[in-house]
Amino acid sequence: MKGLMMDIPLTVTSIMHHAERFSGKTEIVSVSNDNPRHKYNYKEAFRRVRCLANAFQGWKLIQGDRVATLAWNDHRHLETYYATSCAGYVCHTINPRLFPEQIIYIINHAADSYVFLDPDFLSLIEDVSDQCAHVRGWIVMTSSELMPKTNMSNVICYETLIEENSDEFFWPELDENSACALCYTSGTTGNPKGVLYSHRSTVLHTYGAMMPDALNVSSSDVVLPIVPMFHVNAWGTPYCCPAAGAKMVMPGNKMGDGPTLAALINEEKVTTSAGVPTVWLNLLNHLRASGETVDSLKRVTVGGSACPLSIMEEFDSYGVDTRHAWGMTEMSPLGTSNPTGAHREQYSPDAFSAIRTNVGRPIYGVDVKIVDDQGLELPWDGDAFGALKVRGPWICSGYYEVANSEAHSEDGWFETGDVATIDAQGFVAITDRTKDVIKSGGEWISSIEVENCATGHPQVAEAAVIGRPHPKWGERPLLIVVTLGEGEELPVGELKSYFEGKIAKWWIPDDVKFVAEIPHTATGKIQKTKLRDIFKDYVFPE
Ligand code: AMP
Repeated sequence: MKGLMMDIPLTVTSIMHHAERFSGKTEIVSVSNDNPRHKYNYKEAFRRVRCLANAFQGWKLIQGDRVATLAWNDHRHLETYYATSCAGYVCHTINPRLFPEQIIYIINHAADSYVFLDPDFLSLIEDVSDQCAHVRGWIVMTSSELMPKTNMSNVICYETLIEENSDEFFWPELDENSACALCYTSGTTGNPKGVLYSHRSTVLHTYGAMMPDALNVSSSDVVLPIVPMFHVNAWGTPYCCPAAGAKMVMPGNKMGDGPTLAALINEEKVTTSAGVPTVWLNLLNHLRASGETVDSLKRVTVGGSACPLSIMEEFDSYGVDTRHAWGMTEMSPLGTSNPTGAHREQYSPDAFSAIRTNVGRPIYGVDVKIVDDQGLELPWDGDAFGALKVRGPWICSGYYEVANSEAHSEDGWFETGDVATIDAQGFVAITDRTKDVIKSGGEWISSIEVENCATGHPQVAEAAVIGRPHPKWGERPLLIVVTLGEGEELPVGELKSYFEGKIAKWWIPDDVKFVAEIPHTATGKIQKTKLRDIFKDYVFPE
């Protein structure tokens, strides 16, 4: 028997309509290239979105056409998100930190018809535009007075586009399974692969992300998404905030700038924020040096790479609860979240330190399992390491225009490429990327856990662990360290003894190398392939 409920399509358009009707006066604040504090509200934002949608109609785009963005988190980027998706096109967000060849590759692979770009990225585009055959126009996201000079053809000013188009527009009725956004993963090997989000997956992820044990977004929140809108839709915050009616504060190109972040938090009374560990290091360094506090800030969600305990404990001293989360581009991105900080009184201090660094439990909507090399499911005992697989309605079922994806199996599970343990309560601990695991004497060493421990050392700014060949054990861990004192090297023996009692004895790295800088990918993750290349001739001392 079928249920007797209405079949209303789940679309991004419905989020826009809801915010416009019920949170029209809620503020959106952003740092943009022409205004250090641009302020308006959802009503005005979505009025301008209708102007943009009219512009698209004038360009004779066809439903499903890809329109790209190369932009920071600000109000214009938010407008472009909604105008593209709600008018039936696909908002393709491009990570400006990718190499120019990768940017050319993905613009051509996606066959983008128009590209919206922040003036900061004009010189990048000037170098590649003649290799992007499908692109019919480049829209510079600024005012007519500040339009930069360029020799490129088909360059359009964003604000002129808004001024010249009517703010009356009839939104099309969209199929909930049609595509609304596209984001390419920046893997360390091979060409980037496109993840094509649907309206339905985006709306379901929005419900999931807003939940109290996930990002926990409500109408009483002021949200500062520091995670970029060019990477997995800023973890869904551009949809959660309008859906919940939360005030949004966007940092523009200042997302790595501690003083600006502190000023935004204090002036706009930010209650919650989300970002990768490095941005928090910038904020905490600034707070430490200036003596400022962040009194309105209640929670920060940290993910994208493992969050060291030292960051969480420093946030504690400012009264901020750190919530560790895990996910990936293919998962829209939220997979798991660890909200134990909300009831830390249930744990002894040691037990709390141990439990808060794992990435928490799957949020409702995401199913997980760990498997061995033969694909057999492993127990949830907190000890067994295995390849982490996931499934759910906001997880991609394949890659855009890729015939065979090895990561997708016929039984409907997606192989994340991460290695994890899961304990009896369902808490997931990410120990490595599959390609980065270190096998010593047939047993796995968690490089993430060793790195976390190393960053707790007061003189260590950043640490990475890679496996290097060893005549007896097959592989042993080599620790690579950037120290806080520039170029300073610490006694290796002393650093090694720092690990004692903190991790298993046989996990302690055999040797330490000091470097000025650790290489990172375009999304800020440690580039272990490059490190392995740099240390390819390294031999452990006898
Ligand atoms: P991306 O698709 O670029 O967002 O990268 C996703 C990958 O980042 C995951 O598969 C993990 O390897 C890593 N990652 C994300 N969040 C965490 C976390 N909290 N701890 C450890 N690794 C993480």
